[in-house]
Amino acid sequence: MTELKPVNQTSAVKATPTLPDAQIVTDVKHWTDRLFSFRVSRPASLRFRSGEFVMIGLMGDPDPKTGKQKPLLRAYSIASPAWDEELEFYSIKVQDGPLTSRLQHIKPGDQIILRPKPVGTLVHDALLPGKRLWFFATGTGLAPFASLIREPQTYEDYDQIILTHTCRDVAELEYGRKLVEDVRNDALLAELMGEGFADKLVYYPTTTREQSPRMGRVTDLLKDGTLFRDLGIEGMSAKDDRAMVCGSIGLNKDLKDILESFGLREGANSDPAEYVVEKAFVG
Ligand SMILES: Cc1cc2nc3c(=O)[nH]c(=O)nc-3n(C[C@H](O)[C@H](O)[C@H](O)COP(=O)(O)OP(=O)(O)OC[C@H]3O[C@@H](n4cnc5c(N)ncnc54)[C@H](O)[C@@H]3O)c2cc1C
Repeated sequence: MTELKPVNQTSAVKATPTLPDAQIVTDVKHWTDRLFSFRVSRPASLRFRSGEFVMIGLMGDPDPKTGKQKPLLRAYSIASPAWDEELEFYSIKVQDGPLTSRLQHIKPGDQIILRPKPVGTLVHDALLPGKRLWFFATGTGLAPFASLIREPQTYEDYDQIILTHTCRDVAELEYGRKLVEDVRNDALLAELMGEGFADKLVYYPTTTREQSPRMGRVTDLLKDGTLFRDLGIEGMSAKDDRAMVCGSIGLNKDLKDILESFGLREGANSDPAEYVVEKAFVG
């Protein structure tokens, strides 16, 4: 059992709780003043499907009256694939956010709490077999797809995988851009899937505020046909196309309407269909 100390613990705190769910931070990278990624040790017993999320967090501050501390937990998509020996997360920094105002200061060697109960709908099991798989992400909604584009089953099951990622500014795309580059040069995946596997992965980044080669909301680019024209694709069909969506509540709703206009139906673990959706955050 590992001892879990709260971040910024003051000398006034007497009792240091000991929790079974503590994991050690092994690496932290800051991408912008609003985004960072980090890796932690993986509990030996943790099994998950690429694309799922878990609850992670830190010990809350001691209650001023009782001195007692409770874990402060939030849902996080696991950004690493199921085969990885560590776990990776891709996180927002909300300056007054109860968790991320503190989580953004973690360093290698620190501990976080990880509840080992993975769940989620952005998994291969929730989709019926198809030919082309679309990943639609905005902001940190990229995280489950960071897992799935490193998952061999993605390339086994589909002829083409299209990852769209929309952010306000170019710097916010960098984690995803670098990841796609690394996947394309991944010797292990090439050995497993054959040299041509990387040709299946199409990366389509867009920005909504800062000038970049592709501007606009993915929903607008789908509605006016720009996305299809850029990729040389005629459109979507319930027969061949499958989609996973991870963004704000508004984006998810708009994309649901668009996907359903092409005849795709929403699936679930218990009832696989043509597309699945998950919130990237609440609010
Ligand atoms: C299923 C699920 C998976 C999630 N996976 C991730 C993930 O992989 N990475 C991640 O950073 N967050 C993820 N979140 C959001 C996460 O649970 C927290 O909300 C986030 O870490 C901020 O926590 P907080 O306590 O600092 O602020 P909160 O009190 O939780 O949030 C404060 C406000 O910040 C905004 N906000 C919160 N999270 C985000 C975000 N990710 N992007 C943009 N604005 C946000 C919202 O407006 C929210 O009302 C996920 C949420 C859900 C429901």
